[in-house]
Amino acid sequence: MKTPISLIVDDSAPIVSVYYSHAGRRTTKDGRPLLEKYPNELFFRFCDIAERYGLRGKFSVVPMPGNRGDIIGGIEGVSRNELDEWLDGVKKRLLPAFSVCPEMLTHNLAVDLATGGTFPQNEQEWASTKTRKELTPYIEKAISILLEAGFSPRGVTSPWEFGIEVEEEYAAAVSLAFYNVTGADKAWLFLRCVRGRPGIRPWIEPVPDGRTLVSIPATLYDRFWCTIDDPRSDDGFVRSLADRLISEDGKSGDIIDVLESGGWPVLLTHWQDLTSNGLCTGMRALEETARRIEEHLSGRVEWTSFEQIMDLVAADPGAFPKPVF
Ligand SMILES: [Zn+2]
Repeated sequence: MKTPISLIVDDSAPIVSVYYSHAGRRTTKDGRPLLEKYPNELFFRFCDIAERYGLRGKFSVVPMPGNRGDIIGGIEGVSRNELDEWLDGVKKRLLPAFSVCPEMLTHNLAVDLATGGTFPQNEQEWASTKTRKELTPYIEKAISILLEAGFSPRGVTSPWEFGIEVEEEYAAAVSLAFYNVTGADKAWLFLRCVRGRPGIRPWIEPVPDGRTLVSIPATLYDRFWCTIDDPRSDDGFVRSLADRLISEDGKSGDIIDVLESGGWPVLLTHWQDLTSNGLCTGMRALEETARRIEEHLSGRVEWTSFEQIMDLVAADPGAFPKPVF
C-alpha cells in the first residue's frame, strides 16, 4: 500500500479573509494593505491546481467568518451571488477529494450562543477553560451550519489551537457533537501540528461511549506562510519555497524526511498564504510542490482525503495508538 499524503487548507471562507479579522494589523510587514477579501477567481485557481494534480485533504469552511454574518444568512460585504458561487464551487470542485469541515464558528471572537452576541475573547481563549458540556453545543452549532449549507462534515478543524488546553474535554465534545447532530459514531479532528517526530501518523483519540475519534496532525510546516508578507513572486522564489518540502530532484525536503522516518506527510497551508495577499505565490509553490510529488513520488504516496484517513485508521485502531505529548 502507498503511504497516504494529504493537504490541509485552513482558514478558508467565502470571499472574506478571516486572517484580516484576527491578524491585528492592516498592512503586510512590507507595508502593503492587507487584503480584506479574496475574489472567487483566486478560489477557482486553487480548484484548477487541486484537480490537475489530484490533490486530496481537508478544506475548512469557516461558518461565521470573522463575526461578519454566516454562510446561510449572508456575509457582510459579500453579495449573495459571490457567496453562492463560492459555496457551489466547493461542492462541485473540491468534494469529495477534500473533506469539508467547519473551523469552529468565526475564527475570531467567540460567539455567545445564548444571545447571538460575541464574547470579548477569541475562540481559543474562550475554549481554554471550558468543559465538554460547554464545548459540545458550540461544536454542534458549527456542524449544523455546514449541514444547512449542504455539506456533510465528518470532522472539525480547531481555529488556532482551540481546545488544546482542555484536550480530553474537547475530544469528547467533538465526538459527542457529531453523534448528537448527525448520528455518526466516527469523526476526525485536526488540532495538533507534530513535526520532527519520526514515524508520525494519525492516531485514535480516546473518547467515551465506544465512539471513534481519529486525530489527524499536520506533520509538515506551512512553508508558504512567509508569502503573506513577501512582495517577491518570481519563479526562483516559488521554486525555493517548494524546495523546503521537496527538492527539484525529489531526493530531499520535509516530505522526504517524514516518509523516510515512516510517517505520513500531511501538508499545512492557510488560505491567506495560498493567496499571498493577492499574489498567489503560495498557490504557485503548491502547484510546483504537487508537480514534484507527482514526478518523484507517485509510486510511493497517494493523495488521501481526511475522511479516507479516518476510515483507514478506524479500520485498524490498534495500529494507531495516541503518542505521548
Ligand atoms: Zn486557522
